[in-house]
Amino acid sequence: MWDEFANAQPKLAAVVAAIRGAVECPTPEAHALAGDDEPGIEEAEEGKVLTRLHRYRERRRTLVEAKKKDALQKQGCLQCEACDFNFAKAYGPAGDGIIDVHHTKPVHTLRPGETTKLSELALLCANCHRVIHSKRKWLSVEQVRALRKKTQAHETQYPI
Ligand SMILES: [Zn+2]
Ligand SMILES: [Zn+2]
Repeated sequence: MWDEFANAQPKLAAVVAAIRGAVECPTPEAHALAGDDEPGIEEAEEGKVLTRLHRYRERRRTLVEAKKKDALQKQGCLQCEACDFNFAKAYGPAGDGIIDVHHTKPVHTLRPGETTKLSELALLCANCHRVIHSKRKWLSVEQVRALRKKTQAHETQYPI
């Protein structure tokens, strides 16, 4: 019983701190910095606050919609910039409009309150986006594209 309580204490303190932070900070960005860590997202080398700022910016609905619209106008489809995966091609109408948006600006250069340009965003499939954030030193879109090319070449060379 005591052990259970003792183990719960740091979590309780974190919850209190998160709630206090969200209530005391007036900007929506600051609000997004509170809460639990996301599963599958490795904290950037630069730390938790900037990791959350990055994730907040790449999931903002207005920004995501603007980036998708821009890509549709320019290329006529939504596809992963690292592996060319196209959800609509792979899943038909059920895949329409599905793509992740990744913020490419180096995390240490993010400043609270600054605006994001569409050119700083990359479209990625969920797999490539997950790979980018899966290591403490986040990979770049170019690095993941290079990794995919390498394994694809390998697959062709050694078919199962
Ligand atoms: Zn991909
Ligand atoms: Zn991202």
